[in-house]
Amino acid sequence: MKTVVIATNNKNKVREFKSILDNPNLEFKTLKEIGYDKEIEENGNTFEENAIIKAMTVAKDLNVIAISDDSGLCVDALNGAPGIYSARYAGTHNDEDNNALLIKNLNGIENRNAHYECAICIAYPNGDYITEIGTVSGIIIDDRRGNGGFGYDPYFYIPEFGKTFAEVPLEKKNTISHRNKALMKIKDRIDENFNIIR
Ligand code: IMP
Repeated sequence: MKTVVIATNNKNKVREFKSILDNPNLEFKTLKEIGYDKEIEENGNTFEENAIIKAMTVAKDLNVIAISDDSGLCVDALNGAPGIYSARYAGTHNDEDNNALLIKNLNGIENRNAHYECAICIAYPNGDYITEIGTVSGIIIDDRRGNGGFGYDPYFYIPEFGKTFAEVPLEKKNTISHRNKALMKIKDRIDENFNIIR
């Protein structure tokens, strides 16, 4: 049985990682379960760099295989902001504050095209790593719709659904989500023992 450490304590992410990658040869552990509480400084310039920093730090520190993700919202008219600062856009780590600032900054701007991006990294104790990126496009609307999801979801409208991400069940969001796409891509690059195959 191989141990893979999921470099996050976010329960939703843990559930999604496990549901896509789980198999009888693997045992997934979160950072909390393994007793790792070191603060990792995510000082990369891209989602991918931050995902690599997280997975590599855990892989080296614990001598295990580690998997991490980093994600956020990129808005075209704001030159890609909030981007890697999505969680702390308004400076408070609060979804309501972040959304209020986003809508304020888009006031009077017609182009509402945006996308969520997710980078996933699997890192190995010997320094090897692989990464994959998933994206999903949407449109930022001015008035919140729906109570599901999290973060920017009530303002992230998916034309093909005719709904925001906060108005659809999680299973439906996951059919097209950035995180799901990145996970599916990385799943194709590893075997059932989490070894890199391409
Ligand atoms: P992190 O990947 O946990 O650092 O999350 C970054 C931030 O990006 C979150 O706090 C949210 O603000 C935003 N974000 C990432 N993925 C989603 C999503 O699926 N829905 C809504 N917000 C998201």
